[in-house]
Amino acid sequence: MKVIDPYFQIQDDLDRKGFAVRLEECGRICYKSEELITKDSALPFVSKIAAHGHNSVLEMAVATLQVSCSPAQASALLACQPKFLILDQREDGLLITGSIRTFRELYARCPDNPIINGIAAFLGERHPYLFEGVWDAQSAWKTEEVLPITKLTLDEVENLPAKLLLRHRYVGVKFVVNRAVTHEIVRHRPCSFLQESQRYCRYSQDKFDNQVTFIKPMFYTEGTEEFRLWSRAMAETEKIYLRLLETSTPQAARTVLPNSCKTEIIVYCNLEEWRHIFRLRTTKAAEPSMREIMVPLASELRKRYPALE
Ligand SMILES: Cc1cc2nc3c(=O)[nH]c(=O)nc-3n(C[C@H](O)[C@H](O)[C@H](O)COP(=O)(O)OP(=O)(O)OC[C@H]3O[C@@H](n4cnc5c(N)ncnc54)[C@H](O)[C@@H]3O)c2cc1C
Repeated sequence: MKVIDPYFQIQDDLDRKGFAVRLEECGRICYKSEELITKDSALPFVSKIAAHGHNSVLEMAVATLQVSCSPAQASALLACQPKFLILDQREDGLLITGSIRTFRELYARCPDNPIINGIAAFLGERHPYLFEGVWDAQSAWKTEEVLPITKLTLDEVENLPAKLLLRHRYVGVKFVVNRAVTHEIVRHRPCSFLQESQRYCRYSQDKFDNQVTFIKPMFYTEGTEEFRLWSRAMAETEKIYLRLLETSTPQAARTVLPNSCKTEIIVYCNLEEWRHIFRLRTTKAAEPSMREIMVPLASELRKRYPALE
């Protein structure tokens, strides 16, 4: 067995990559199949994911759009009761941030709304693979001509005034933590999540060094009797898990895996939600293993975005 410390990675390198690359790099965390990424693998991966309904992968990329529209058109959009969209009224129209999933499902539900149709056309013409199955270039409106839409660059989003920056800047963080921490993180509903799946990952494989990885518990100091007891429990669990894998599937064998099991999870949300998470998860009331990872993350993100204070 392997025992490692928890850690996090802010995924800002991915923010400068295209939609498909971003979605594939995030999506492969579930299967731990990052080794299959090639220069041509992103588009087929995204198409397959969409066809299979693994929808949360499509939440892992957002677009921020400036839509010039009349107050009546903005009201008509609200009448569609858009869910999971960040909307702000500006002088010349709406500032809208949403994930690929949001735009796909909104279009499927309200295709006749000019703003929704315009956004689908704007994104679909540039990235048809993202709208496969829901949007068809042949029959689509050419609404871009009547409804001017522009996509903000990452630098333009980063330069928005603080209030808008907090709402429209989405930041992804990959955590490598124990299963107890992931259980708590996923309670934050405005976030999108993707996590390593114990159903698909078979830790007896070479790519996992044929062993289970555990997160060192911050509660017990190495060398103490408590730490020895914990280590014994993990070693015994790993033995039973590997034995079960000889005759059953990972989804069956995983039923013996404990909270200390290492899990990778990507959390993707706007800065406003990160601020909320830090307020809840860095105080003395928070679970210590959660604080162990959230306190340094909060400090790092606040350096980049003082609006998070
Ligand atoms: C110290 C601590 C102890 C905890 N103990 C337990 C426990 O024993 N058992 C347990 O089950 N959970 C527990 N929790 C989880 C906690 O109850 C929340 O579910 C979790 O922290 C998510 O936070 P949230 O609900 O404030 O906001 P999020 O889910 O992060 O949502 C962000 C904001 O969106 C809004 N929002 C989202 N969804 C809704 C909604 N459906 N209705 C209205 N507003 C919404 C709210 O304004 C909210 O502030 C604990 C959390 C902490 C920090």
